Amino acid sequence: MTLLVSIHDVAPPNLAAAQRLWKLCRDAGVVPALLVVPDWHGTAPIERDAAFLSWLRGAASEGAEIILHGERHDEAGRSRALSDEIRAAGRTAREGECLTLDAAELEALVTRGLVRLRALGFDAQGFVPPAWLMRQDARRGIYAAGARLTEDETAIYFASGHRIAAPALRWSARTPFRARASVLVAEGRWRLRRHTPVMRIALHPGDLRHPAVAASVAREMARWTALRSAEPYASLLA
Ligand SMILES: [Zn+2]
Repeated sequence: MTLLVSIHDVAPPNLAAAQRLWKLCRDAGVVPALLVVPDWHGTAPIERDAAFLSWLRGAASEGAEIILHGERHDEAGRSRALSDEIRAAGRTAREGECLTLDAAELEALVTRGLVRLRALGFDAQGFVPPAWLMRQDARRGIYAAGARLTEDETAIYFASGHRIAAPALRWSARTPFRARASVLVAEGRWRLRRHTPVMRIALHPGDLRHPAVAASVAREMARWTALRSAEPYASLLA
């Protein structure tokens, strides 16, 4: 049984929070994948932040997989069709950068991102769209850009055409109600999905801000890592 742990929204404005999550993972014996946003909200190009890059390089040298996670993460300058609104309902506060993109647009975005990461020495094999939102038929654009795997809320997808069902534990600290609800969902996942072959834990910069969420994250990390070993995404490519 496999456990995949990742930290989402790794970008200069979220550096301190990402570092806290990184420490939490390392204390649990886990090297999480880092989902990097090259230009968070169009105002934080990673190339210009030496402290961020130095931390990211250190994490990569400890074995962290670097995965591309959008270009700027938000939906600035994009308009949603009705079908996009339905897919995104309740899922994100306009942080679904890839929600409205077709395959060619997604290919261009992923290509730009991978080029930027490679120029900095990071060999990213995967791409995860912000909020896990993308059009199904656009997914081929990700592979055309050279990424070998991607994921949404329910599964991991490979350029080979393979799909692995993988429930994801994630929390939301955006409002007190969502925080409490996500703690209950996490508890339910443990009871119902304990024996599922591939499980994901997706951590976000806001998770440790809310005490109930922080406690739940620590509890779930401890019990899932006691049950199964954490593996990199790349282990699924073999
Ligand atoms: Zn994200």
